[in-house]
Parts: sequence; structure tokens; C-alpha cells
Amino acid sequence: MGRVYAAIRYHQYMTHTESARVQRITRRCIKALLLGLVLNLLVAWGLSLIPHKLGPGDSRAAQVVWRSPDDVQESLYTLEHKWFGVLEHQYHNTRRSRFHGPPRQISLWWTWRPFEQIYSSRDEARAIFSELNPTNPDASVASRTRFGFPALSLYCNTMIDDSAPLPNGEFATWTRGGFFDRIDSTTLMGKPSVWPHAQHIWLPYRPIWSGLVINTLIYALVWMMISYLYTRVRNAQRMLRGRCPFCAYEHHHDFTHGCPECGWRKTPPTPENNTPEPLSG
Ligand SMILES: [Zn+2]
Repeated sequence: MGRVYAAIRYHQYMTHTESARVQRITRRCIKALLLGLVLNLLVAWGLSLIPHKLGPGDSRAAQVVWRSPDDVQESLYTLEHKWFGVLEHQYHNTRRSRFHGPPRQISLWWTWRPFEQIYSSRDEARAIFSELNPTNPDASVASRTRFGFPALSLYCNTMIDDSAPLPNGEFATWTRGGFFDRIDSTTLMGKPSVWPHAQHIWLPYRPIWSGLVINTLIYALVWMMISYLYTRVRNAQRMLRGRCPFCAYEHHHDFTHGCPECGWRKTPPTPENNTPEPLSG
């Protein structure tokens, strides 16, 4: 009877510690993933400050021309600006004077769109125009700006009607999926031009799912590696000071009997042999 009791206690001890370990690891993973998710927002918002101060590192302009079903030639002007972790696509229906970047250009740029379904400029422009529905489409510049590092993970749609400034000296601006600052017209009065929307502060919150998942996993992994290393170093330092590595209980450098505080190196209660007696009355 005593052996059965010992076997049950042994099993309870093992399963208890095993499940506690799994629980601890699960909790740690969830915490790291949540942290990674929040970091996406902070990183994107931090990156959105770069275009506010510096011109794009890479810019490309293009005109897209196609024939509509009733054989009318239609066209669209596109402009792409790249910064470090910021990618802006601008769309407008009419030809405008080219944007010439400010003297302080950023030389390093990085944009990465892993597994993102990439639509044609025409489809993307149509989506933004129909969502923001400008009263004056030919004077409006639509823009989709993506932010994130290492992958672009958040975006917002914006539109500026720069035909004429409002009485308060600002241009009419619309945005979806982000917070934004004001667009001041004083520097651009009287000469409609295309300039990067991202030159102003846009704080995006709409997810680009593939980038969001990849960044979150990368941030979580990095965080877990750092916290693992930190724990290992801390535990080693505790042992060097003669304390329990897990709970810092004072052992005065004598680790032979294990830790009475947290059970470290305490031998579990073992049965006298490994095969428990059959429970037959
Ligand atoms: Zn301990």
C-alpha cells in the first residue's frame, strides 16, 4: 500500500511540475507576442517621423494608361517615395509639377512587403478614391502609405485637395486608418504641386496582415532571446554569490542539499521500484 501511495505521489509531482513548466512557457510566449504586437505600432509611428524631417531616399514617377470598356483612353499618374521603413504611393488624375525633394535627403531606404498581395496601381488608386470619395477628384492626390520594419506592417489612406486652401490656410485633407497632422498651404500657395503626404506626420493603425505577423514573430523572438540570456546571466550571478539561482535564497555556497525555498535540486519522492502495484484490493 505504501508503494502505491509513493507511486501516486511521484506521478503527481512529475505531472505537476511538467504542467507548471508548460504553463510558464505558454505565458511567456503570449507575453512576448503581445509585446511584439504593440512594438509594431511604436516602430511604425517612430518611422513616420522620418519623412517629416527628410526627403525620400528613392522616388519614381510613372503614367499608367489604359483603355476603358467603351474604348476611351484613361490614365493615372503615380508617384512612389521610399524612406527607411516607409513606402508611399501617390495617385492623381491630372498632370502636376514634379515634387522636388528638400535638400536634406535620406540616403538609406528599406521597404519590405513579404507575402503582401500587391494590386496594380490602378486598382489601388480606385480603392482609395472610392473610399475617400473626394468632391474634386481632379485636384486631389490620393495616397497609401505603408510603415514598418523589417516588414511594412501598418498603412493608412490619405487624400489632399490642393486646388485651393481653406480659409484657415490649410488644405482639405482626408484620412482613413491613421491619425494625421495638419497640412499647411503657406509654402505651396498658388502653385499646385505634388509633394509627399508622408512629409507630414501620419500615425497609421490599419494592419498589413502578412507584415504584422512577421514583425510580431521577429520582435517576440528577439525579446525571448534577450530575456533568456538575461535570466541565464542573472542565475549564474546568483550562484556565484552563493545563492539559489532561481529564487535567490541564501545557501552560503552549499548547494548539495538543494533549495528548501523553491525546490531546486530537491530529489522528488521516488517509489522504491518503478512498477506500481496493481490496485486489486
Ligand atoms: Zn530556490
